[in-house]
Amino acid sequence: MFDYLIVGAGFAGAVLAERLAKKSNKKVLIIDKRKHIGGNAYDYYNESGILIHKYGPHIFHTNSPKVFAYLSEFTLWRPYEHKVLASVRNKLLPIPINLNTVNGLYGHNFDSAQLAAYFDQIKEPIETIRTSEDVVLSQVGRDLYETFFRGYTRKQWGMDPSELDKMVTSRIPTRTDCDDRYFTDTFQYMPLHGYTRMFENMLDHPNIHIALNTSYTEIKKYVGFKNLIFTGPVDEYFDYCYGHLPYRSLQFVHKTVDQPQFQSVAVVNYPNDQDYTRITEYKHLTGQEHAKTSITYEYPSWNGDPYYPVPKLENAALYQQYKLLTETLPNVHFVGRLGTYRYYNMDQVVAQALTLYDKLSGKKSVNEVL
Ligand code: FAD
Repeated sequence: MFDYLIVGAGFAGAVLAERLAKKSNKKVLIIDKRKHIGGNAYDYYNESGILIHKYGPHIFHTNSPKVFAYLSEFTLWRPYEHKVLASVRNKLLPIPINLNTVNGLYGHNFDSAQLAAYFDQIKEPIETIRTSEDVVLSQVGRDLYETFFRGYTRKQWGMDPSELDKMVTSRIPTRTDCDDRYFTDTFQYMPLHGYTRMFENMLDHPNIHIALNTSYTEIKKYVGFKNLIFTGPVDEYFDYCYGHLPYRSLQFVHKTVDQPQFQSVAVVNYPNDQDYTRITEYKHLTGQEHAKTSITYEYPSWNGDPYYPVPKLENAALYQQYKLLTETLPNVHFVGRLGTYRYYNMDQVVAQALTLYDKLSGKKSVNEVL
């Protein structure tokens, strides 16, 4: 008999397993239907000995000292500030849009004040910002929107930005200076020895038992548990009784090429002309030195593992129906990106899991707002 069965060994499941086992002395069984721990953050050394991310690039960034301090118990870090270029009109230009993006695209020689004035001139007045299209048009106008955002978003989400909630493009700032960092968070690091090593350290405790290649539907018949923490898709748990929540998926094509470097930054976006959205080169993220280099192409799709909850009003409404059901089950807790149908980053999932732990252990909530 376990105190807790935890379904899913990604960030949500691993944080709760660690806290419950170590701090509350609970006996925990954590399972995953995949053959590895780490969820979507799983990384591994490929056949050439290069550390790659199986499910696409995962860059850790947070403004939360609490989340950073917590994860620092399980890993050393490597400072890393993420840089992205977009391949448009035969040029590689910084994204998020900044001074060099605009000057490079149009051949201008603006300074920051001139660029701010230019944005004022080209941005479209939109009274109420509702969609992802509204966000960008109201900041940088139509040509920059169509060049950098429309095609990328259509590929990534399988729908036009005008159909998507504003939160998708609101995540990407517009800058008038030359700051070319993708994120501006206080803490920007990669786990020095990789994510999987960090998860191994989290789960290394005598109270934690791990079963991989194991799905919830299989194991629930055979093990006894007092409480359940479910980090898989919430609609799957309830047998899709209200219908399927849509999730966007990705197909990853991993390649190793016989040259030390493939591109000048970790990620190059391809907004317009290719079927893939971006190419990632991992050595930029990990700092690994190797004569070869490994890259990944991402092809968005509706088939495959559920990666991204799709931010649309009607999906949020459908999720609310499932959420009401979750509230009828006192010993079952839903957490994580799939369990709560939220487009969360890793740090937000860690904060959410720590908050749930506080609730389960009767402590005051960390009340982390990220
Ligand atoms: P997951 O990592 O999805 O873990 C859930 C686990 O549950 C999975 O391993 C799954 O196999 C298992 N599971 C599901 N159902 C069952 C079942 N029925 N039985 C058994 N096991 C089950 N975040 C960032 O902060 N920075 C980034 O750069 C970043 N990049 C990303 C890139 C991509 C391509 C994707 C898809 C996501 C990215 N994220 C990034 C988000 C990040 O992956 C998530 O925030 C985080 O991994 C969510 O953790 P989780 O535990 O909620 O879910």
